[in-house]
Amino acid sequence: MRAPTLTVDLAAVAHNARVFAGVSPGFMAVVKADAFNHGAAEVARTALANGARRLGVTSIREAVRLRGQGIAAPVLSWMNPPNADYTEAIGLYVELAVSDLEQLHAIADAPRRAERVPGIHLFADTGMARDGAPPDRWAELCERARSLEKSGRVRIVGVMSHLAWAEDPAHPANEQAVRSFEAAVDVLHRAGATSVVRHLANSAGALGIPRTRFDTARIGAGLYGIDPSGRYGLRRAMTLAAPVVMVRDAEEGTPVGYGHTHRTRSRTRLALVPLGYADGVPRSAAGTAEVAVHGRRCPIVGTISMDQIVVDVGDLPVHAGDPVTVFGPGDEGEPTTADWARWCRTNEHEVMTGIGPRVERIIHARIPDTPAAFHDTARLAGASASFATTPDLKETGSRAQH
Ligand SMILES: *Cc1c(COP(=O)(O)O)cnc(C)c1O
Repeated sequence: MRAPTLTVDLAAVAHNARVFAGVSPGFMAVVKADAFNHGAAEVARTALANGARRLGVTSIREAVRLRGQGIAAPVLSWMNPPNADYTEAIGLYVELAVSDLEQLHAIADAPRRAERVPGIHLFADTGMARDGAPPDRWAELCERARSLEKSGRVRIVGVMSHLAWAEDPAHPANEQAVRSFEAAVDVLHRAGATSVVRHLANSAGALGIPRTRFDTARIGAGLYGIDPSGRYGLRRAMTLAAPVVMVRDAEEGTPVGYGHTHRTRSRTRLALVPLGYADGVPRSAAGTAEVAVHGRRCPIVGTISMDQIVVDVGDLPVHAGDPVTVFGPGDEGEPTTADWARWCRTNEHEVMTGIGPRVERIIHARIPDTPAAFHDTARLAGASASFATTPDLKETGSRAQH
C-alpha cells in the first residue's frame, strides 16, 4: 500500500437504500456534507437506482454541485440564509425548505425566469428549537406561503419537520413531535395547501417509529450504515487504511511521542502510520483507540499528532508498506466507526465526516448501472470552489467532476 486511502463501497450503500425503500418507498436520500464524506454524486446515483426518489442537502451550494454533476432528480436544500442565491437554486429546480417569513419572501422575490416557480417545503419546528418555524409563527407562514402560491410565486411541494429523539423510539418526545407535526399539517391544509408531501422521519425514525413515516422520510445516517439499534442489518461502506511508513524495535520503557504520554511496557515493535488529526483521527482517541494490522487489533500509543500515529504492533512481522486499517465494516475484526465514536465520545457521523482532504478517496461500485470505480483525488478544500457551475440537467455520464 502506498498512501492513506478512504475506500467507499457503494454496494453497501445500495443494500442500505433497499432496506429503506422497504419501509419508506421513494425516500429522500440525504447526501449533505458530501454524503457524509462518501461522495455525494456517487451516493445519489446509487440511492436513486435503489429506491430513493428525492435527494436532500443542507445548502444551495451542495445542491448546485449535484446539478453540475449531472443529477436531475428532485433535490431539496433546507438551510440557507435570506440572502442566499435563490435565483441560481430556482433556475436549477432546487427545492427549498422555508422556516420563516424572511426566507419565504426572499425566495418569492428572487429574480428568475417567469416559468420557473420555486418549489418550497414548509418546515415546522416540532420540539427541537433548531430549524423550522416555531409553533407561534407557523400559521402566518402557511398563510403567506399559500397566498404567494395562489399568485404563482411559489409552489408548496412539502411540509417537513425533524425529530430530536428518534434514536430512542420509546422517548415521549417522539409522540409529541408526531402530534405537533399532524397539527402543523392541519394548519397548512386549512390554509388551502392540500396536496403536499409530508416528511418528518430521519433514518432512526423511519426504521424504529412507524408513526413518523408519513409520505416519505429523509434518510442520511442509515444509508451509510449507521444503525444504533443494530437491528436492521445495515452495512458500513467506508474503510480508512494507510501504509506503515517505518517500523522500529523499542526497549521496555521507551517514551513515545509528544509529552511522552506513553512508555512501552515491554520490548516491542512500533509502526509509524501517516495519518493524524488533520486527517480525521481525533486526538481525543489517544490512549484508547486501536487499529488492525495483519488482522490483529493493535493499540495506538502516545499522542495523536497532526500527521502521524504510532502503533504498538508487538511481535507481528510488520514491514513498511503493510496496510493498517483504522476502521472498516468490521467484517474481519477491524475497528468500526462505532468503535471510534465510543473512543472519542462522539457519534459515527462526526467520525465519517471528519476524514480530511489529504486522504485519497476511492469509490467502488459493484452494482449494475454504476461505473466500476470513481477515483477522487482532488479533495483539496478549495476543489469545489473552482467547480464551474455549468448546469446541465441531462445525465452527463459517470465520472465525478471536481
Ligand atoms: C441530517 C438530516 C437528516 C438525516 O438524518 P439521519 O439521522 O442522518 O437520517 C434529515 N433531516 C434533516 C433536517 C437533517 O438535517
